[in-house]
Amino acid sequence: MCACRCGIRVHLEDGKLRYIDGNPDHPLNQGVICAKGSSGIMKQFSPARLTQPLRRKVGAERGAAEFEPISWDEAFQVLEDRLREIRSTDPKKFALFTGRDQMQALTGLFARQFGTPNYAAHGGFCSVNMAAGMIYTIGGSFWEFGGPDLERAKLFVMIGTAEDHHSNPMKIAISKFKRAGGRFISVNPIRTGYSAIADEWIPIRPGTDGALLLALIHELIRTGLYDRDFLARYSNAGQLIDADESSDSFGLHAKDDSCPEVNPMFPQNKLWWDRVSDRPVPTHSEGADPKLRGAYTLPDGRKVKPAFELLSERVADCTPEWAAAITGIDADTIRRLALEMGMTARDQKIELPIAWTDSWGQEHSTVTGNPVAFHAMRGLAAHSNGFQTIRALAILMSILGTIDRPGGFRHKAPFPRAIPPSAKPPKRPSDVKANTPLPTVPLGWPASPDDLFIHDDGTPVRLDKGFSWEHPLSVHGLMHNAITNAWRGDPYRIDTLLIFMANMAWNSTMNTSEIRKMLNDKGDDGQYKIPFLVVCDAFQSETTAFADLVLPDTTYLERHDVMSMLDRPISEFSGPMDAVRVPVLPVTGDCKPFQDVLVELASRLKFPAFTQPDGGRKFKDYPDFIINFETEPGSGIGFLAGWRGSDGSKSMQGEPNPNQWEMYAKNNCVFHHELPKSYQYMRNWNKGYMEWAMRTRLRRFGEPILIQLWSEELQSFRSAAQGKRAGRQPPDHLRARIAKHFDPLPFFSLPLETQASDRDKYPLAAVTQRPMAMYHSWDSQNAWLRQIHAHNYLFVNPKVAQAAGVADGGWMWVESQWGKVRCMARYSEAVEPGTVWTWNAIGKAQGAWQLADDANEARRGFLLNHLISEELPAAAGDAGGDGKVSNSDPITGQAGWYDVRVRITPAAAEEAQESWPQFAPMKALPGTKGGARKLWQTFFKGSLNSEPSK
Ligand code: SF4
Repeated sequence: MCACRCGIRVHLEDGKLRYIDGNPDHPLNQGVICAKGSSGIMKQFSPARLTQPLRRKVGAERGAAEFEPISWDEAFQVLEDRLREIRSTDPKKFALFTGRDQMQALTGLFARQFGTPNYAAHGGFCSVNMAAGMIYTIGGSFWEFGGPDLERAKLFVMIGTAEDHHSNPMKIAISKFKRAGGRFISVNPIRTGYSAIADEWIPIRPGTDGALLLALIHELIRTGLYDRDFLARYSNAGQLIDADESSDSFGLHAKDDSCPEVNPMFPQNKLWWDRVSDRPVPTHSEGADPKLRGAYTLPDGRKVKPAFELLSERVADCTPEWAAAITGIDADTIRRLALEMGMTARDQKIELPIAWTDSWGQEHSTVTGNPVAFHAMRGLAAHSNGFQTIRALAILMSILGTIDRPGGFRHKAPFPRAIPPSAKPPKRPSDVKANTPLPTVPLGWPASPDDLFIHDDGTPVRLDKGFSWEHPLSVHGLMHNAITNAWRGDPYRIDTLLIFMANMAWNSTMNTSEIRKMLNDKGDDGQYKIPFLVVCDAFQSETTAFADLVLPDTTYLERHDVMSMLDRPISEFSGPMDAVRVPVLPVTGDCKPFQDVLVELASRLKFPAFTQPDGGRKFKDYPDFIINFETEPGSGIGFLAGWRGSDGSKSMQGEPNPNQWEMYAKNNCVFHHELPKSYQYMRNWNKGYMEWAMRTRLRRFGEPILIQLWSEELQSFRSAAQGKRAGRQPPDHLRARIAKHFDPLPFFSLPLETQASDRDKYPLAAVTQRPMAMYHSWDSQNAWLRQIHAHNYLFVNPKVAQAAGVADGGWMWVESQWGKVRCMARYSEAVEPGTVWTWNAIGKAQGAWQLADDANEARRGFLLNHLISEELPAAAGDAGGDGKVSNSDPITGQAGWYDVRVRITPAAAEEAQESWPQFAPMKALPGTKGGARKLWQTFFKGSLNSEPSK
């Protein structure tokens, strides 16, 4: 049901849904199910279910939720006519933004085939820093892409993680880990969820994790407790970097031009300073061993230093005392933590009798591991300094020698990927052409300014300004700025915005009250500034009220879905794994799976990938598309890797199999390709794995993926900003911002908004966590889960609350420099004193989700988003000029959700005892079920054979 994607069994009685439990034979969750999973029944019986396509009534205002039912034929015709006109004139005027769906390979393909670059999913406002910071450093990341090997780890350090998406597998792994005697440390401002069962909780001030991580690196280098041999061979620690600051090549790897480059995207002719012969040699020369410290002069006179020397210089001043003043963690604790990590890694080594061969042909008789494992997520990511913080984490994990080794961090296919991955975004405005697909994927991985998507004058081509100088590495886009930019017409106006499964008029947006006004705002011509808004969702969210066209989606129990290797599969450490959902219930009312909507529209609009050479449609519907689509004609690679070939006898690659869905269904809906043991570790540099991955097209190139302590990609942007790089140059008002933030080594600075806040006036950091019993806003209508969370409190340390005169359970005002909310306080000693926090997306607008107008969610619940701005004044964002910039990481565009500063004051006794702001009650949309109480009562009575009357 959620992004964890556990296997479930759905039990029916006479065709009616009676019971859901975990599938014990599913490798991911092994039968474990969470509250959300087993309450999926009440999602099905939700009163908020949309059941028919709806069109805003002629003359009705947007936001008033005045709709008339229409047929799918009419809905498709409206969309087809509108989108055909846009595609044949200016495809950029169609924007497709999707939320936490699990079909980004399809939505991305749709956008690419349409020819619009204005496409993104939820990643930019979720945890793109976690993906980008790790992938630009080690070629993989956490959760879907990799994770901690708790089966063999001895020490587990979790940082900035709430009950995140990998919940059931993580719970199973932590429980086994603790029973086996492992030690679990949690670094987090709040002690809930996983942190509550940690052996040690280390509270930290939000946004300061980077300082802690740099101090840990400092300590490990100072004490010599880093894995020198691992770094020398498997990272760029020994590679020589031009250290002559006066040179234009300063900060770039020194290369031997007489050696073959092999692959210009990933050149293999970089240099080491060999400690054996005391001279420069091509990297990984046989018999050579690089110096990691010192400064050297090449025969041509260039001054160079190994990357590790530069890292050591960077952290020289990052002492525990320095970090203590920033993080609130005392220096002795930091020293102890570093010592524990370093000694566990060094003294409790694992040696597995698995022979393997590395990328340079050296044979190893064993795989070794340093059993210190980490897991981190949005607590690190959702800050405007998050990318560099996560680079620091990846480097800490690397110097401990834990990457893709037993007991440390392990990759999951299709990772590791090249650094950076070879897919690039479009490069120039002429890449957007009428009636033509984009030449490349809308979202990719820039390696240098040459890969930005900008006009000749450096201004952005994308609506959200992704891949521009404002946010060069915005690999997941900046969905959180799409509405504001479209409303303002900066960089331009669009015509149609299609939103899928994202509650952009409520909890999925910052600055919620203003965004709601923008969605309704009209220009001088009386037309809406965002002319046409299409919302596809299964439920009556707050956002559906603002739609011109509502498309009713199915639930997860009513449709086919894939968790694909082309997207975000459910792979295990041991090899690729993908999965499907198959429908167990008939479609409710006139709902249609969004995937089918996309396949239908793509066919009607005759996108090349969806059209036969004779002009006929290629795919009947989504299940047919999944079976028959191939990445290139005859590639044998499609959305599903299992049971390929005409009889299902092939895997990973093979011609389409007409019975593929049935074969998945017969096999627990899961396909798992277990790699030989010798391919399961050290995959960045594992010759056998690389060759297999290239054969199966998981990888395009076979060059080893060296860990990047020093990032030449970042340096290339900095060089451009400093005028040292020919070619594309940033606009002058962004030069200083780029030069500062695109540091090739991790550094710490406070988040942008924190720096720009009056911290005497707003002394507290305010953050949210996703509750373990609700999946964002989608469970607000779930009758069972509402019994766990129907309203939320702001949790405050008692000392702080008492000093402010706020009572436990009392009403109070929470103010930031951007806005204020009224909510209830709850005392909690499980939060460090400088932080206040709440569960996200519990508070609701009146009437939304078919909740009663006086429901607790609306009257006692609240949304912190009203306090957060989606933009900062330019100066606060380290940019010049007097405009605004996104409230995001300057590198990736990751939304700075957790950077807001607030103050608390008690509400006056005469004030209303309800949350603020309140909005006019939302009307029920036509076709929503109503009468839910009867349905629920009938469910408990066990007599669902006849539908109850309303
Ligand atoms: S974690 Fe998500 S996928 Fe797993 S059982 Fe719970 S709701 Fe279902």
